[in-house]
Amino acid sequence: MSNPLPLTTLRDPATLRVLISAERIQQRIAEIGQQIDEDLPGQGPVYLIGILKGSFIFMADLARAIRRSARIEFMGVSSYGRGKSSSGEVRVLKDLDVSIAGSDVIIVEDIVDSGITLTYLKSLLEARQPRSLRIVTLLDKPERRVRPVHVDYVGFQIPDEFVVGYGLDFAEDYRNLKEVCILE
Ligand code: 5GP
Repeated sequence: MSNPLPLTTLRDPATLRVLISAERIQQRIAEIGQQIDEDLPGQGPVYLIGILKGSFIFMADLARAIRRSARIEFMGVSSYGRGKSSSGEVRVLKDLDVSIAGSDVIIVEDIVDSGITLTYLKSLLEARQPRSLRIVTLLDKPERRVRPVHVDYVGFQIPDEFVVGYGLDFAEDYRNLKEVCILE
């Protein structure tokens, strides 16, 4: 991700504009949790697979909005060439510790941008033969899509702006904001 700001402004609160309030985030997550419960009526736990690090706060709130028994796993990935080339190379930095064969699985993502990461992860996890595989993302920037990928649950569609907060960072800062903010 290229640096859009002079470094001296990074910690200046004036450069942050709230795009989605903490309250709206929580309301939307409650709705998504309910929808997931309705869509997955079967038995057995659902595996929620969070993509590090950006999804960690969304994961914590979403997991508690789901009434069905859920197991929490995380994967770490890094994408190369985002915005620079269309090679779409993604590398797994931390894989799952468990088998998902025969289980209901939901990938929990913070934001879908080009779609490269999710396209890769979806085919990787599909090959492990889960009973079902769904994707939930808090944020979606549809204008930026390079790889079309079906996302089952979207919290909010947002314009093509760089956002931080609620788990999302810029150079590891701002993850602990309660709101989603535009970094200006
Ligand atoms: P994709 O493979 O869809 O291009 O990449 C999605 C990943 O890019 C997200 O998981 C996130 O790490 C990063 N990303 C994309 N847009 C933004 C943004 O506006 N803010 C932040 N902090 N990260 C973003």
